[in-house]
Amino acid sequence: MKTLRLELDPWNPDPSVLENAAEVIRRGGLVAFPTETVYGLGANALAPEAVRKIYAAKGRPPDNPLILHLSRPEQAEELVYVDERARRLMSAFWPGPLTLVLKARDCIPSVTRGGLDTAALRMPDHPIAGALIEAAGCPIAAPSANVSGRPSPTDARTVWEDLQGRVDILLDGGPVRVGIESTVVDVSTERPLLLRPGGMSREVLEEFLGVPLGVPDGQSKRRSPGMRYRHYAPAVPVRIWQPGDPLDLGEGQNPEEWAFMGLSEPPAGFGHILQFTSAENYARGLFTGFRTLEAAWRGIVAEWPSEAGVGLGLRDRIRRAALEGK
Ligand code: AMP
Ligand code: MG
Repeated sequence: MKTLRLELDPWNPDPSVLENAAEVIRRGGLVAFPTETVYGLGANALAPEAVRKIYAAKGRPPDNPLILHLSRPEQAEELVYVDERARRLMSAFWPGPLTLVLKARDCIPSVTRGGLDTAALRMPDHPIAGALIEAAGCPIAAPSANVSGRPSPTDARTVWEDLQGRVDILLDGGPVRVGIESTVVDVSTERPLLLRPGGMSREVLEEFLGVPLGVPDGQSKRRSPGMRYRHYAPAVPVRIWQPGDPLDLGEGQNPEEWAFMGLSEPPAGFGHILQFTSAENYARGLFTGFRTLEAAWRGIVAEWPSEAGVGLGLRDRIRRAALEGK
């Protein structure tokens, strides 16, 4: 397959390009597109054959369900059972980096939800994503537009590296704003559960809900299969460093051959330093940092940020990138 890469101005997207991409979605093809979190690899969420192509293009395990992307909150009502609490969350935080897991209606194919009886829904806060979904006239199932296990793409060049020849169209809308994936909250049960921390802060959600979010135990981990996998990982080892702690790179390693990324002044003579001025910038630069640094350095030391705001999501990505083995 030859991938068509099309540039779009996010603030003034060319309607004929969008229509072209929407037509590809409608006839069961794959379109990679920008959202505010990371680039997505999209297909018609209601067409099982189209959704299967997503799993194949990414090499994604088939039991890891996909998020359905909407262009308007009302669309949720036809797809899942929406209660008052979910409706309030949608009207407060959509469009935005908040994914809600709800009991699925039968119209969502099993392959889209990884065989679960729930489905994950989100309305992205990006003009290209919104216009594409609206023009396609169907919800778009989309995981991140990278080869499974690799750091997620925050710009079109990275999508091209991973998926060239595996998608019909790549919409290039420039770099994304948030840089890590959405926060996933399961609201299908009485107690809302934080299944994956991400771009939307836990504190803000808890304040809104008036209750602390539960965290997954063994059983609920099975309910969010994506949490099981080593993920987001660059090709070289990642070590976590907390400010104040001694640096441990492992036997015989020389910091001059390693790169550092984080917010603080690093402890030793690193070969390369990527220092960010805020947790938001750290989140925006994390995945691109992984991909850039892996090409030139023996390993990457990532600073463990405070868990406030986007810090909790950052911690999750860093922790999983640092896991050994697959
Ligand atoms: P990704 O598309 O790679 O950003 O991952 C989507 C995340 O949402 C993964 O962690 C999935 O496990 C999670 N997810 C999607 N659908 C569901 C669902 N029905 N129930 C629980 N988690 C879900
Ligand atoms: Mg992903």
